[in-house]
Amino acid sequence: MGRIIAVANQKGGVGKTTTAVNLAASLASMKRRVLLIDLDPQGNATMGCGVDKHDIEQSSCDVLLSDVPFVECLRRVAEPAPGFDLLPANGDLTAAEVGLMNSPDRERRLARVLAAGAAHYELVIIDCPPSLNMLTLNALVAADGVLIPIQCEYYALEGLSSLIDTIDQVRASRNSGLQIEGILRTMHDPRNNLANQVSTQLVVHFSEQVYRTIIPRNVRLAEAPSHGLPVLMYDPISKGAVSYLALASEVLRRQDKRRLAA
Ligand code: ATP
Ligand code: MG
Repeated sequence: MGRIIAVANQKGGVGKTTTAVNLAASLASMKRRVLLIDLDPQGNATMGCGVDKHDIEQSSCDVLLSDVPFVECLRRVAEPAPGFDLLPANGDLTAAEVGLMNSPDRERRLARVLAAGAAHYELVIIDCPPSLNMLTLNALVAADGVLIPIQCEYYALEGLSSLIDTIDQVRASRNSGLQIEGILRTMHDPRNNLANQVSTQLVVHFSEQVYRTIIPRNVRLAEAPSHGLPVLMYDPISKGAVSYLALASEVLRRQDKRRLAA
């Protein structure tokens, strides 16, 4: 089984979905077998991959709540470029969150499904909703690592400590192997002094857990989802596309390093 990476931060609008979609597409372009899971009822990752969230028959909701075989819910996206598989989502997932409450193994549903059906992927990327709810908990219990996108602004660090507390709790009680995959600075504007200060503080506190790659603020990244395309297909020479390729390389390098150390 490949590596499962949950892209999570309970703070809204920090670049989780942009990172999940574009990291998945960049890894696929490097010939990796990739699965992207949309675990947010907003369905933004689904739409960003060109799948209409109003027009999906089976979704991550079905995978979590019923015994629909996982493969029957998948869509192939981002082709003809080296594509990847998407497990789509829409508002039905809100019902799944409520439905899960009554299930005895409610935090482990996603982990079970992936253990049974996702063995041939080299990387599984999960786009989490902006809250620490049962859906995010399912992602954290299933994951090997948590990739935390951070927009370098005043309140960013405050939110980060509660996310890290949650990760510590999950590690202590439900998923002892859970690691911090990396902290990613997103939407960075180097002309903004506060952003530079927060960025430096992050490196001081979290040293090499912070990715060297910094994702700049780039209008092509914001435009691409409205065309239903990862930025790599929308504008492959944009700064946004180049920075997500650099992130994918860094994610793979860290994975190799971990393998060597093990
Ligand atoms: P939510 O918490 O609602 O799920 P999110 O954390 O997934 O949000 P995104 O949807 O990825 O965040 O990004 C929020 C908005 O910022 C979107 O409109 C997106 O297109 C835009 N955006 C993300 N990253 C960048 C970037 N590097 N440059 C410019 N715009 C960006
Ligand atoms: Mg999102």
